[in-house]
Amino acid sequence: MSNCYTCGVLAGRHSAPGGTIYEDACWEVGHISDPVLLPGYLIIKLRRHCEHLADLTPEEAATLGPVVQRTCLALARILNPAKIYVCSFGEGVQHIHFHVIPSMAGMPAGSYAVFLWLWLRRSLHRIGIKKWVHDPAVAENIAAQLRHELC
Ligand SMILES: [Zn+2]
Repeated sequence: MSNCYTCGVLAGRHSAPGGTIYEDACWEVGHISDPVLLPGYLIIKLRRHCEHLADLTPEEAATLGPVVQRTCLALARILNPAKIYVCSFGEGVQHIHFHVIPSMAGMPAGSYAVFLWLWLRRSLHRIGIKKWVHDPAVAENIAAQLRHELC
């Protein structure tokens, strides 16, 4: 779909630090882009445009669990977070995708606190205060480690 942000990422019109970390026939994993709020904050994207989990093909549904589990295992080995949050909303970007968010030291705990924390970081970035946005080089380094772990 031409106006879909995630389709744009998959087509290479938008990029994330470290590029594609993992891909198979159905799914692609990479950092969240624009901006990098947290190194290791990943997005698992369906490789075709689809907006409802109920419309996944049998192959897509069967491979979703393994890609989520392997992504979380790789994050756990590389970053050793206290927890890893996995969620999907499909509100701003309707293309099926999952946010994979490592809960790192210094982050608040719990869904509301984490999303408020991330929203604050994104908002400060958008109004020009970038000190809370991480260096893309850090995310690229983590992406390289994750790519090696997921091979
Ligand atoms: Zn799309």
